[in-house]
Amino acid sequence: MDKSTQETFRPLIEARMDELNATLASTKEDTAAISPDVSIGRLSRLDSMQMQQMAVGMQSRMREELKQLKEALLRIDRGRYGTCEMCRKDIPTERLEFQLDATVCVACLRGARK
Ligand SMILES: [Zn+2]
Repeated sequence: MDKSTQETFRPLIEARMDELNATLASTKEDTAAISPDVSIGRLSRLDSMQMQQMAVGMQSRMREELKQLKEALLRIDRGRYGTCEMCRKDIPTERLEFQLDATVCVACLRGARK
């Protein structure tokens, strides 16, 4: 994949990272430990614990995606973005638009999952 095509993905990746960081910041409070004394209104303690667990799971997925996106930016810096790590062919831009942190093409992904 040529450098100028790679560079078109940089702002998309950065925008996605901003979005994830903003969501992470806004959900921080949801995962704060629940004090046993605190009044939690209509929600039972069990419900709020389940919600907390869901929020923690969501946050860890977002952090993982952020890590992958950071690596995608590094691949742009090195000129390796959009090249399949397995067959070294270009990953179609439609796939990259759908999954900005893709490192292998669909054919190799299917092959690897067999
Ligand atoms: Zn491939």
